[in-house]
Amino acid sequence: MLMAIFSFPCNPYQANTYLFSDPSGCCVLIDATFHNMKEWSEISTLLEKNNLRLKSLIITHYHFDHVIGINLFRSMFDLPILAHRGGVGFINQVAAQAGIFGVKIESDFSPTEWLSGGDIISVGQSELKVLYTPGHADGSICLYCEKEGVVFAGDVLFRESIGRTDLPTGDFQTLAESIQKELFALPEHTTVFPGHGPTTSIGHEKRFNPFL
Ligand SMILES: [Zn+2]
Repeated sequence: MLMAIFSFPCNPYQANTYLFSDPSGCCVLIDATFHNMKEWSEISTLLEKNNLRLKSLIITHYHFDHVIGINLFRSMFDLPILAHRGGVGFINQVAAQAGIFGVKIESDFSPTEWLSGGDIISVGQSELKVLYTPGHADGSICLYCEKEGVVFAGDVLFRESIGRTDLPTGDFQTLAESIQKELFALPEHTTVFPGHGPTTSIGHEKRFNPFL
């Protein structure tokens, strides 16, 4: 088996949960966007069918469409939940918003471990490097796998678009700097897996993104 990436657009906002697996079948989930058992069952079926061994859940940022499934995840797995410490101020707000999705507001959305920019998360034989990319929300990270030439971009960069900056801690200038400094420094052939919508590449966004 080769490295594999599966995407699961979930919840009313169609936020992507990604499953990233190394060639041995060791895998991580990126974001917990699934908000009911029906959405989760697609992911669990794929895990079982491919005999994948789930290692952890990594959160790109603490907007509720990306973390709404944390409690469901916690109820099924005793596995690490990783997020950047810059998102700490959002955790209680997520709980307050959860009711909109029919999720109990007393749910615990805290991670089990805090990340910092530059951290390396090993996934079997593969590695994901944490890129700190604030501007859409404090604590926003991207996850870069150099060996495979892929980056998971959360809501920082989309195909020919960028993350919104009108929510708390959002700031256009900061976001543009994050993209220039961290994402546009990657090789142009790098495939971008955004938090919403289709994939793109760093080269395509350098040429065609109208916001940058
Ligand atoms: Zn967001």
